[in-house]
Amino acid sequence: MSNVKVCVRFRPLSSRERRICGDDICFDRLDEESFVFKDEKGEDTTFCFDRVFYQDAKQRDLYEFLAMSIVQDTVNGINGTIITYGQTGAGKTYSLEGPGILEFDECRKGLLPRVIDGLFECLKSSTDMSAHTIKISMVEIYMERVRDLLDVSKDNLQIREGKGQGIYLSGATEVSISDLTEAIALINRGIANKAVGSTQMNVTSSRSHCLYTLSVQYESAVDGKVKSGKLMLVDLAGSEKVEKTGAEGKVLEEAKTINKSLSALGNVINALTTGKRSHIPYRSSKLTRILEDSLGGNSRTALLCCCSPSSSNTLESMSTLRFGTRAK
Ligand code: ADP
Ligand code: MG
Repeated sequence: MSNVKVCVRFRPLSSRERRICGDDICFDRLDEESFVFKDEKGEDTTFCFDRVFYQDAKQRDLYEFLAMSIVQDTVNGINGTIITYGQTGAGKTYSLEGPGILEFDECRKGLLPRVIDGLFECLKSSTDMSAHTIKISMVEIYMERVRDLLDVSKDNLQIREGKGQGIYLSGATEVSISDLTEAIALINRGIANKAVGSTQMNVTSSRSHCLYTLSVQYESAVDGKVKSGKLMLVDLAGSEKVEKTGAEGKVLEEAKTINKSLSALGNVINALTTGKRSHIPYRSSKLTRILEDSLGGNSRTALLCCCSPSSSNTLESMSTLRFGTRAK
């Protein structure tokens, strides 16, 4: 079995898309793993993935298929990564966080609060455990600089690699949490910093990658050994091709930087899944470097490719689906 799971999610049509294109949908459902995509020239392509979540999919379905086993593995000391990819507006943040500021909305809450809940559940139900901690850190990568979202004064974190501790961000704020309520308050603080940062830098947060790290550590009651696992959740910057719109200056620079790191990620995942493991280009971007010990090796990865269902977005959706296909 491959350690990389690739899934697609089509969110519901937005009211704006309804106005532009009516109810025109860019695909025909086949089953829960495949669909026929209709491109802008009217040509059909059949795509297959590990799972396709259609407009009626529940946030809970996503968690159960994509994240639950990764959560269990994290508690057993196996690192994991969950990544959302797609153009701005495709549903990355909704899938990962939920709608707006994190809340306890049972139905609409995203993967992140469910994952945290799952980690606590696993730790609680494990008998092999005397003490445990879960720590959260939250950073964003903008123009190849890593900013601490839990302490915005740290705006250029350096990536280090330590014996026995893998890859880490030197000096990044890590906060120990004891329950979901505490975690949500903390994360909401970080999300607010994202927004502050984005007005200061005159960008929207869709131009940066947002990375959540959940580190679990516990002492085994059986042999007294300390075990640890790390689960990363990554809300990527929008994958849209800004260059084609004639963008200039800073916007163009941003777009180039994003494209570079997204293709670096694509190359790393492709190298991992095609078995070309002799050289995996982790060092070609900050994003892939940070993810180095949570992608590949025996770690587990889930990639969720988020798409608009509307025929008005076929070009970008096609490009997202190609990215996903290359990652399989
Ligand atoms: P992205 O993070 O990819 O830019 P968002 O997650 O912010 O996109 O989604 C764009 C808009 O669509 C938001 O208003 C969001 O609430 C809504 N949305 C996205 N996915 C869904 C979904 N599965 N169900 C309902 N609304 C969604
Ligand atoms: Mg977003």
